[in-house]
Amino acid sequence: SLTIGIVGLPNVGKSTLFNALTKNDVLAANYPFATIEPNVGVVGLPDPRLPKLAELYDSQKVIPAPVSFVDIAGLVRGASKGQGRGNAFLANIRDASAICQVVRAFSDPNVVHVDGKISPADDIETINTELMLADLQTLEKALPRLEKEAKLRKDRASVAAAAAAAAKLLNEGVTLYAGAAAAGIDVAELRELHLLTTKPFLYVFNVDEEELANAEFLDELRAIVAPAEAVFMDAKVESELIDLPEEEARELLESIGQPEPGLHQLIRVGFRTLGLQTYLTAGPKEARAWTIPVGATAPEAAGVIHSDFQRGFIKAEIVSYDDLMAAGSMSSAKAAGKVRMEGKDYVMRDGDVVEFRFNV
Ligand code: GDP
Repeated sequence: SLTIGIVGLPNVGKSTLFNALTKNDVLAANYPFATIEPNVGVVGLPDPRLPKLAELYDSQKVIPAPVSFVDIAGLVRGASKGQGRGNAFLANIRDASAICQVVRAFSDPNVVHVDGKISPADDIETINTELMLADLQTLEKALPRLEKEAKLRKDRASVAAAAAAAAKLLNEGVTLYAGAAAAGIDVAELRELHLLTTKPFLYVFNVDEEELANAEFLDELRAIVAPAEAVFMDAKVESELIDLPEEEARELLESIGQPEPGLHQLIRVGFRTLGLQTYLTAGPKEARAWTIPVGATAPEAAGVIHSDFQRGFIKAEIVSYDDLMAAGSMSSAKAAGKVRMEGKDYVMRDGDVVEFRFNV
């Protein structure tokens, strides 16, 4: 499933953010056991379409698309050389589909910074350096073997070449996510090595609440990580929001000029960074969102519900959410010619409301 690993230096607000994410009742309502392990939590992708769909179908339940977050502790300066808990973070981070780096930009003098000064750019470099060093160690261990294999087997030559090119890029201080494409490295060739920096990166800047409205300040931070995506929030405020009734939470957000919780933005940006989208199903039992990669075909989408649906796929009855809502009911949407029968080559669109027809 979709898992986002949270990393960052100590004292930047990772736990505060993680707790706010996983204790958020609004998000976690449909995942009663939201905290699976102390450091893993599941939250639902916020989707205002689902409750409306549930109303239309008189569904008993709303089930949003799940996103898992893992609080990955132990990534400190020197971790790749055995500092702190050493490489203990590696196992957790390998399972993550994306890496979310939390960066301190808040100024509170009562919270000690491990390096004694608040510098988002330096902190990002520290963390990225550790991740790159971990990848370099993996590559240096694998390269002699890969080169041997390349001499014996033609099909291994491209893997060995990609690994050598990756090591060169990392030695220049560039992550594979940022630089592989430009360097002509096919990261698919490197899959077996489970490298960390091939994963998509996104950044959360934990800023003071007064700075959330300071566009110039936020732009400076955004420029450090571009073209990766940046989300800005005050983790302390986010952690206060979760204990408030909805109305008061909204008022607090408005008072600091935020249209929605930063947590919602983070989940959505995570989704986008990973190239994912959702389609919807609805009935009396549940209104539900299902996660698929952008570009997935109708049978592939059916396979997310059950592999039998993909194997026995015949066709899909599809109406876009907007058309369905505009028509007011499925039968009106049909009468208006908005409901389509799509075959196995149909490429799914975000917000398609679907019923699959299949052989069992
Ligand atoms: P972690 O080590 O990265 O998990 O950091 P924590 O979440 O434990 O936070 C470290 C300290 O910073 C705690 O005392 C938090 O209350 C505080 N803190 C976290 N986020 C913020 C913030 O946005 N503003 C302020 N002023 N303090 C924060």
